[in-house]
Amino acid sequence: MNIVVGGVRGSFPISQTNFMRYGGDTTSFLIEGAGGERVLLDIGTGARRLGARLQRRSAHDVLVLLTHFHLDHLIGLPALSLLYDARAHIEFAAPRRAGHQIARELSRLLEPPLWPLQLDGMAAALRFRNLPGLVCRRPLRWGGLAIRWAPVHHPAGCWSYRLDEPATGASMIFATDIEWPMASSSARAQWIKWATQPEPPTALFFDGQYTPEDYERFRGWGHSRWTDAVEVARAVGAKWLFVIHHAPDRDDAAMAAIERRLRAAFRGARAARQGQIIHL
Ligand SMILES: [Zn+2]
Repeated sequence: MNIVVGGVRGSFPISQTNFMRYGGDTTSFLIEGAGGERVLLDIGTGARRLGARLQRRSAHDVLVLLTHFHLDHLIGLPALSLLYDARAHIEFAAPRRAGHQIARELSRLLEPPLWPLQLDGMAAALRFRNLPGLVCRRPLRWGGLAIRWAPVHHPAGCWSYRLDEPATGASMIFATDIEWPMASSSARAQWIKWATQPEPPTALFFDGQYTPEDYERFRGWGHSRWTDAVEVARAVGAKWLFVIHHAPDRDDAAMAAIERRLRAAFRGARAARQGQIIHL
């Protein structure tokens, strides 16, 4: 399993020279399975480069898993080049939730006069799948990948995903936009239990937008501290931890300072960087 980081910036995209090392594009990750499976996790502005990578490699079948409908995780939709490619089959999926219809929410982003082309006029074949249940009872199969999901604490809701590749033993958990300190102790225990099934994950990607020093100013905004990410990585027994959803005002120097503390706290920890490819 390869994990390609298209974008890892939180809240909104940044385009400034002193943000280039960690990157300014918002959340979008590509999972490349050993059997040729392709899964996009969220479609922030990082989806632009990931769509181009898929086309370069003639990968036209892709599953797009959405964590929630906040703009920074969807804003790359019109820049997803596969939409304009008649060879592409794209399946968008998210857990079913009262008041949200995946096709409707995505269509709204492209409604006239916001964008010249609408979803029903795209060249690609599109499908929309509402995943059943709050917590996954039976994994979704996508080729050789097994996909599970569970809700996390975030204003208006959000889901985390776990992808397992039994053929190689690789597994990853993607938990963005989660405010760990605000979740109840029973919700935390339930999530830890979910995250360790069927076994501890190889890699954990976890929201660490804040530092212990700045968190109190942002309590209730829906994000964790990097120290929470370390606590959770230990609790679930992850081998690798990648902190994600970097604060939009945190430049490369500030990110590097956090990464130094992060690595000292947990040997297998990194701050994820745009453009990085992780082999599990
Ligand atoms: Zn976000």
